[in-house]
Amino acid sequence: MSAPIKQLDVVIVGSGFAGLYMLHTARQLGLRARVLEGGSGPGGTWFWNRYPGARCDIESMQYSFQFDRDLQQEWEWSERYAAQPEILAYIDHVIERFDLAGDIQFNSRVESAIFDEVNGRWMVETSAGETFSSTFCIMATGCLSAANMPNIKGRETFSGPVYHTGQWPQDGVDFSGLKVAVVGTGSSAIQTIPLVAEQAAQLTVFQRTPSFTVPARNRALTQSEKDEIKANYDDYRALGKSQDLAWDAAPNENAASDLSDAEIVAECERRWEMGALYWYGAFSDLLTDQKTNDIVAQFVRGKVREMVKDPKVADILAPDSVFGCKRVCADTNYYATYNRDNVSLVDISSTPIDEITSDGIRVDDTSYEFDAIIFATGFDAMTGSLNKIDIRGRSGLKLKDKWAAGPRTYLGLQTAGFPNLFTISGPGSPSVLTCMVTSIEQHVEFIRDAIVYMREHDMKYIEATAEAEDAWVDHVNEVAGSTLLNNCNSWYLGANVPGKPRVFMPYLGFPAYAAKCEEVAEQGYEGFVLGAA
Ligand code: NAP
Repeated sequence: MSAPIKQLDVVIVGSGFAGLYMLHTARQLGLRARVLEGGSGPGGTWFWNRYPGARCDIESMQYSFQFDRDLQQEWEWSERYAAQPEILAYIDHVIERFDLAGDIQFNSRVESAIFDEVNGRWMVETSAGETFSSTFCIMATGCLSAANMPNIKGRETFSGPVYHTGQWPQDGVDFSGLKVAVVGTGSSAIQTIPLVAEQAAQLTVFQRTPSFTVPARNRALTQSEKDEIKANYDDYRALGKSQDLAWDAAPNENAASDLSDAEIVAECERRWEMGALYWYGAFSDLLTDQKTNDIVAQFVRGKVREMVKDPKVADILAPDSVFGCKRVCADTNYYATYNRDNVSLVDISSTPIDEITSDGIRVDDTSYEFDAIIFATGFDAMTGSLNKIDIRGRSGLKLKDKWAAGPRTYLGLQTAGFPNLFTISGPGSPSVLTCMVTSIEQHVEFIRDAIVYMREHDMKYIEATAEAEDAWVDHVNEVAGSTLLNNCNSWYLGANVPGKPRVFMPYLGFPAYAAKCEEVAEQGYEGFVLGAA
């Protein structure tokens, strides 16, 4: 006999920041809600990405929930940039503080979510063989959750362990005495390479494209720094939300074109000392003016050449692309690592990896022997985790088919043909271009208000119109098109996954986006159809 179908008001897929806040919010509305999580613990991205060195590159006092003042006052971050274990501890604290555990189900990967048009309900099935019937289905599946494992010939034949930074073993890995390969040089690789190098006997990095990386300048937070922010937390949060990235990047209101050469260099030196992603605030025209961008890129290349002793290695590491087009990385001792005797770099920009063999990696006619391989090859970002689920809306329309030429959404919140299905930080929303936690809160609160509105107006479903969606997709492209963000092979564009359509997925500009959402709500959910049956 098959198990009984469980009835819910809200089914939430994923237990990261988004899923947890959605659960808390749904419960506050008195709704029967449940989080279904594929992993064996909570945290989403922060559960899986536990590779050595994993750390957030937005300041901890900003990269945290702001919906509850007491939570914000109580929690003590130890470092300027929180390491993965501390973020996971914070997530555990949030679960305990709001008593969420009872409505989170682990080891329950959602395999399908199918809209039953007759009853107006989402039928959601998990890998554990359970079925849920729910009024709303909320995808809190994360933007960087579906690991991108390159399909390199012979991968299955390697006799040693193979790791992906985004699927790191729960018990950690000891690389002592081993010959280790790292494939990839994005944010994850750049964080893990210095630590693996300290442990491994030999580390070889395979680089296809060098990233722009700047010193993180991580350090312990002092009590007075924390006290000062906490005394004015509302102002601090408001300042963050007034900026495009939804965190305070200390923006310089000057365009580089308005400054003298000496002033530009002084600002670059200042940003170098500030560290991490504060570079995005360096000049107001950084991402719109190629000349400004070239100056910054040249400055960073100069720093690479100062830090890396071997000029040939420095040349390979120095990026020749648009600064900030791919996400800027923040590192601790990355370049210095290449000065170590046990670290070498292989440039695979023009000669890709040909094959993985039982004992290593072959590039052209050179074979490298390894005991372990780490793929730091990123994610099928923004759409990957949604497309892994068999999601079907009206008339059996498959989301994957609808999005075959790239994701189409209205505000990154809904897609036409899928009533009562929401995506938190979905493609078409600011999400990955912002402090994710802030964007997540804004989305959850939009969904909450929409549900309250529906209740008050006795409506049963909400669905984006195709017209509103078309207009929004055009607008997202137009905004990205006015910047330099289309000028590289970034994962924002899906360029890192072979065969993925090239569409700029996130929306640039948190304040404009949040204002648009408010306006839409005030106009009775303009661009959405609300129905009574
Ligand atoms: P990523 O930025 O996409 O980097 C993946 C790397 O793997 C790139 O160097 C890429 O080269 C390389 N690669 C992919 N396929 C390859 C192949 N077949 N052969 C050789 N090289 C290949 O992924 P990520 O480092 O995991 O970072 C993803 C995002 O996660 C970041 O941009 C950031 O938003 C977030 N993240 C944040 C933090 C933080 O907060 N500090 C840390 C980690 C990640 P190409 O560039 O040539 O494609």
